[in-house]
Amino acid sequence: MCQKISKTKYCPAGHSSRDFAYSGRQNHIYSGICDLCTKERFIQELKTCSSGNANIDKILQESQINIPYYNLQWMPYDNFQNINHKVDSSRGSVYSAELKNGRKECWNFLKQEWEYELIGHKVALKEITDSRYDIAGFLKMKSIYNHKGYVVEYYGFSKNPSTQNYIFVMELFDDDLHGYLNWTYLDLKWG
Ligand SMILES: [Zn+2]
Repeated sequence: MCQKISKTKYCPAGHSSRDFAYSGRQNHIYSGICDLCTKERFIQELKTCSSGNANIDKILQESQINIPYYNLQWMPYDNFQNINHKVDSSRGSVYSAELKNGRKECWNFLKQEWEYELIGHKVALKEITDSRYDIAGFLKMKSIYNHKGYVVEYYGFSKNPSTQNYIFVMELFDDDLHGYLNWTYLDLKWG
């Protein structure tokens, strides 16, 4: 019998690879990356960056505290380029766009800067034009569809500075028709 013994690693902030970064998940420390440093950086930045909407701030906070990677983030509107109108639905308008600078993936404690993923990646922007739209509906929908393993992936939120409307930043389907059907399906579920 041979038992593998892994050596405990530490980051400069004193986190250990034996700590838990997220529920049931041990802290990964490798090549300048420490899950706990990343998590702390996200939380620290949230304190100085408000979406202007308490519900959205709460969703972002919960996501960044509880989910490793693929969390929801606040994405500045000037990070979107090549914005193209796709379709209007009952709740808002859908655009395709590219993430000029990508989105934050993890904090590099050696370089003291963020590492980014999805640079130049195409995303869908769903701008909510219905003022009656209830952000709590978003939370409800997330729990329903995550439970069923639904495939729509949310990257985060933004705000159109021209209209002051909030935007859901989402996965863009390659097939326009498929994407359109999903939008209308979600609208029906929310209605
Ligand atoms: Zn650390």
